[in-house]
Amino acid sequence: MTNEKWPVGVFASIDAGLGVQLDVVKELGIKAIQMHTPHKNSRTPEKAKEFIAKLQDVGAELTVVFCGFDGESYADIPTTQKTIGLVPPETRAERTQEVKEIADFAKLLGCDAVGIHIGFIPHEEDDPQTWKDLVAVAQEVCDYIANNGQYLHLETGQETADGLLKFIHAVDRPNLRVNFDPANMILYGSGEPIEALKKVGKYVRSCHCKDGKWSAKPGVDWGCEVPFGDGDVNAKKFLETLKEIGYEGALTIEREIPQEPERQKAEISKAKTLIEQIKAEIL
Ligand code: MG
Repeated sequence: MTNEKWPVGVFASIDAGLGVQLDVVKELGIKAIQMHTPHKNSRTPEKAKEFIAKLQDVGAELTVVFCGFDGESYADIPTTQKTIGLVPPETRAERTQEVKEIADFAKLLGCDAVGIHIGFIPHEEDDPQTWKDLVAVAQEVCDYIANNGQYLHLETGQETADGLLKFIHAVDRPNLRVNFDPANMILYGSGEPIEALKKVGKYVRSCHCKDGKWSAKPGVDWGCEVPFGDGDVNAKKFLETLKEIGYEGALTIEREIPQEPERQKAEISKAKTLIEQIKAEIL
């Protein structure tokens, strides 16, 4: 565990997900990563040993393993609502089991946090049964991973801060926390990110440094993801607010353009420089 406050991190992938490859992490001298879970076939004790050796070679600490499931699609907001996380009823049981398997694999990697886009949690008034079922499923996962000494980090964006708080209070488990992604609040049209961060601050245990621009129809059409510092988040204000809430963990850069690896690397490098400048100013 690094003792440095706010180590700059990056979202990385091995064989699934939108993050950068580990050679990029090494090249950029980044010391903390969140990792999209590898595919099912790669979640074995042997592979875990290989990954640990790779991480040691890169010199980066693994802070969160993020869940991802076959059949998920972020094509547009309605498709996301239908396909993401533990919300779709037809895959809920199977995916809940998979979260436990991912958590066990994260444990083999020595990682105490599992991140998840749980999906679009409906308002309790609109769909009381789904709400109740999701609370129960989150409790089940939290209780299972507590035995691994792990925390469950809910990725922000799909709910308002008030909606997320209501859900966290209903689940009522000490190992349920938040991975705060300020850009997602904008991209999904779920509310102004700095205000949201202040509201959920006490639950934030990891975060994404990602940026975005509001769409003309927030909540209907996607906003646009842009390099950290170029969007509507206000990077400096975001870090100042993290300081205000007492956050000390990694600042994990996320840039979801794996189809353009050179541009992705350059923009992550630029974001790292920006974060280091702001850290020097405000820490
Ligand atoms: Mg994110």
